[in-house]
Amino acid sequence: MRDQLLYLDGRWTPGAGTVPVTDRWTGVPLGTVAVGSAEHARQAVDAAEKALAAGLAVPQRSAVLAATAASVRERAESFAQSITAETGKPITAARGEVARAVETLTWAAEEAKRLVGEAVALDAIPSGAGTLAVTVPEPRGIVAAITPFNFPLNLVLHKVAPALAAGCPVLLKPSEKSVLVAGLLVEAFEAAGLPGGWLNLVTGPPADVAEVWFDDPRVAVVTFTGSSRVGWDIKARSPRKFHVLELGSNTAMVVTDDADLARAADDALVAALTNAGQACVSLQRIYVTEGVAEQFLAALAERFAATPSGDPRRETTVVGPMITPAATQQLKSSIDRAVAAGARLLAGGDVVDGVLQPTLLAEPASGDPLVLQEAFGPIASVLVVPDLNSAIEAVNASDYALNTAIHTSDLGSAMEYARRAEAGTVLVNMPPSYRADHMPYGGVKGSGQGVEGVRYAIHELLHHKLVVLKP
Ligand code: NAD
Repeated sequence: MRDQLLYLDGRWTPGAGTVPVTDRWTGVPLGTVAVGSAEHARQAVDAAEKALAAGLAVPQRSAVLAATAASVRERAESFAQSITAETGKPITAARGEVARAVETLTWAAEEAKRLVGEAVALDAIPSGAGTLAVTVPEPRGIVAAITPFNFPLNLVLHKVAPALAAGCPVLLKPSEKSVLVAGLLVEAFEAAGLPGGWLNLVTGPPADVAEVWFDDPRVAVVTFTGSSRVGWDIKARSPRKFHVLELGSNTAMVVTDDADLARAADDALVAALTNAGQACVSLQRIYVTEGVAEQFLAALAERFAATPSGDPRRETTVVGPMITPAATQQLKSSIDRAVAAGARLLAGGDVVDGVLQPTLLAEPASGDPLVLQEAFGPIASVLVVPDLNSAIEAVNASDYALNTAIHTSDLGSAMEYARRAEAGTVLVNMPPSYRADHMPYGGVKGSGQGVEGVRYAIHELLHHKLVVLKP
C-alpha cells in the first residue's frame, strides 16, 4: 500500500484530500493519492521560482540525472509492478518501459553537458564590423508538465529529464489514471540529491491545478502530452506561454503489392497492439494495394487471432485490459456499429474477461469514426486501395499526422511516400509505432507542435540569448 503525497519544495506534503487507487486487473486497493488544490499549485510555482533564481550548475544537473538513472535501475521491478498494477499494462511491456526510462535519464545526463551556442557572423555586413556575437543558451524558465496515462513513466520523463538538463524547474501533473509511478520517480530524484523546488509533484483535478499554472506569469512553458482536444484548448487558454504539444493520432501504414507481406504483417501487429493499442503511434489504418489485399488480410488476421490476451501479470500476455471498463465498452460499441454498417470482422470484436480482444476489421466505411478518429485501443482496419497515389491521399486526409510507415521493396515508392506523406516521422519497412528517445519526435497538423527526444526537447526549453560585444 502506498499513500502518495504532494511533493512541494523538496517536502512530501498532504493535499486537501485523498483518492483511492486500485489495481486495474484485480480491483485490490493499492493506496491513495493526495488531491492538490489551487493553493498547492501556487506553492509549487513559488518553490520553482526560488529554485530557478538559485540555479543548478550543469555538473550537478548531469550528476543528479545519472544518479536517478541508477536509482530507477536498482528499483526497476517495483517500478514495473506499479505500472502493471495501476494501468493493466502487461508486465513484460512495463519492464520495457522502465528500461527505456533509464536510457532517457542517461541520455539527458549526457546531453546536459552539451548545451552549446553559436558564433554569429555579424561582421558579414559593414554595420557589424569589429563585433563578436554569440548565442548563449539559457533556460526558458519554469516548465509546467502535464502527462497522459498510457506510458506513465516514459512520458513524464520525456519532459522532466530534458527540463532538468536545460536548467528549468518543473511543475508536474501526471494523469490521474496512472499516478503512482510518477511518485516513485520523484522519490528516485530525491534520493539522487535533486535540491528542493526543481521537481514539484501536484496531483489532483486539472481545473484546480493546471489552470493556476496557465494563469501564472512566472510559468514560462507548458509542455503537454495527451489528447488533441485538451492540448489545443490549453494553447488557446494560455497564449503567452511557450508550448510543446504532443497530441493524439490515427496512425496509418501503406502496404504495396511488392512488399514483403510477412514482415509487413508482423510490423502491423506490433504497431496495432502494443499497450492494447493505447499509444499515440498505435496503428489504426492500413491501406493495402489490391493485388495483395486478400493475402495480407489473411496473414494479419491469423496473427491477431493468435495474440495472447488477458491477465497483465502473466509473462506471456501481449494485450491486457484498456485503461478503464468504460473505455473498453465505448470502443466495443464503435466496433459493433462499424460491423453493422458493413465492415468485415476478421478477428476479435468481443470482450473476454474485461479485455477487448485484438480486433481486425476489413473495409469499414471510409467515413467511419474508427477510420477518421483516434480509437486508442486494440483495433486496426484494413482498407483496399488501387495504387500508391490513392493510399497517400487517404493517409493525408486525416487531420492527425504523427508517425506513418510504408512497406514496399521499391525504393522509388518509399521515396515518394517519404516526400508526400504528411507526418512527423516516416518509417520505411518498419512498424509505424517505432520511437527511440534520442530521435526527434513530434506531430504536425492536429497532432501537435514542437519536438521531443532528449536533445531536441532540451533545445525547445532553451532560449538562445544573443550577446553582441564590441570593444
Ligand atoms: P487526456 O488529454 O485526457 O489527459 C492528459 C493529461 O491532461 C492528464 O494529466 C489530464 O489530467 C490532463 N487534463 C485533462 N483535462 C485538462 C485540462 N482542461 N487542463 C489541463 N490538463 C488537463 O489524455 P489521456 O487519455 O490521458 O491520454 C491519451 C491521449 O494522449 C491520446 O490522445 C494519445 O494519442 C495522446 N498521447 C500522445 C502522445 C504523443 O507523444 N503525441 C503520447 C502519448 C499519448
